Amino acid sequence: MPDRAPARPPAAKRPARGRTGQALPQPPVPSQDELRPLAVAVAEGYRRGRRDLPWRKVRDPYAIWVSEIMLQQTRVATVIPYWQRWMQRFPSVAALAAAPLDDVLAAWSGLGFYGRARNLHRGAREVMASWAGELPSSAAELRQVPGIGPYTAGAISSIAHGERAALVDGNVARVFARVFALDADIKASATGRVLWEHAHALMQALPASYAAGELNEGLMELGATVCSVSDPRCLSCPVAAAAQCRAAAQGLQSTLPVSRAGKPVAELPVLHLQAVWAMRGQQVVLARRRPEGLFGGLWELPSAASLPAAAAVVGARVEGTAAVAHHDQILSHRRLRIDVWSASAPATLGKPQDPSYDAVRYVSLEELSDLAISAATAALLAKYKDAPWTSIQKPSRSSPKGTQRSSKGSASSATTSPTPTSPRPRRARPRASTSSSTTRTR
Ligand code: SF4
Repeated sequence: MPDRAPARPPAAKRPARGRTGQALPQPPVPSQDELRPLAVAVAEGYRRGRRDLPWRKVRDPYAIWVSEIMLQQTRVATVIPYWQRWMQRFPSVAALAAAPLDDVLAAWSGLGFYGRARNLHRGAREVMASWAGELPSSAAELRQVPGIGPYTAGAISSIAHGERAALVDGNVARVFARVFALDADIKASATGRVLWEHAHALMQALPASYAAGELNEGLMELGATVCSVSDPRCLSCPVAAAAQCRAAAQGLQSTLPVSRAGKPVAELPVLHLQAVWAMRGQQVVLARRRPEGLFGGLWELPSAASLPAAAAVVGARVEGTAAVAHHDQILSHRRLRIDVWSASAPATLGKPQDPSYDAVRYVSLEELSDLAISAATAALLAKYKDAPWTSIQKPSRSSPKGTQRSSKGSASSATTSPTPTSPRPRRARPRASTSSSTTRTR
């Protein structure tokens, strides 16, 4: 379960819709007197049960900003070492702003969602240019920094500066849906407005003896550790102990929140690309996407919609008449399919002959961990390291059945590999086989 998934306050005012899709009357926001016991229960629960996390030991708004961005849809255990390395490498807004995007993306490599790293970098440069290197303190001003939305602004201002600013992320939305028994799709924009109204009112109801950050972090902590998606632990929940959860009181904790199912994967549009695999010794040619746009700033196998265009990116010449590998990946709103073709490596590399790239270079397989590489290329390189497709042997007519398995064209079948008993040396036979890899990510 992710620890953070920002929910945005919607602009349009439309009735919230329930599990049947019918418009529902918007539930009234409880009064401050009604909300105060709930706010106290959440803040007290946080004081008693808060996890000991490294970013909770600092009040540096920049450090909190970095942690909040990393935590969006990523588990705490994964984030901790990334956050610690990041703060050593880029200890301040100034250090981050001065770093090349390549270094920033490399430090982010493995967390996925590289757009967040690009936005952090862009935001840091904006803070240096417009805010004299200091993050603004109020949620309203923080919203003016690129990449900082309402959730992140509320988190930074309340935790670092004690501003009574509300927030709603995916965890908080789920907690509110249960606590207030909201029978409406929490991903619908109309419900988002209702959730934010409840968050603002709850913050206003918090007694002055509690810090705003205690309520906000308490809500997030509750969603991350107790009120989970599939297994809400009501018996150990501070909100239930204070008799402040309507879902628990009515036995609805397993049926709330209502959430509309996404589009089936099979219905997503397909982005089909051709890529070239050109090696010189143990080095492979990679190209870097321009910072703006899909996969911005990431290194990948040169690719394009057509094979001639992909080869032309680096001046390579395609070898063979069949792809040597395939990769399938689920992006947020489409499916990515890449066919990889073996190609001759150009003797020298000039500028990329495609405006969507801004650099090309040879990279040794050992150097790859120092670069920010697209998930597709990382998967293909890992597959190649396991079983180089240039070493896979074509079965001879006399070969016994089963000396080679081909997964040509299949998104889910296994990588081909040479038979362990074969006495023959490895030779380049790119047409003999294909390797498939499948990655599911956004
Ligand atoms: S009582 Fe149960 S459903 Fe209500 S907030 Fe706590 S864990 Fe969630």
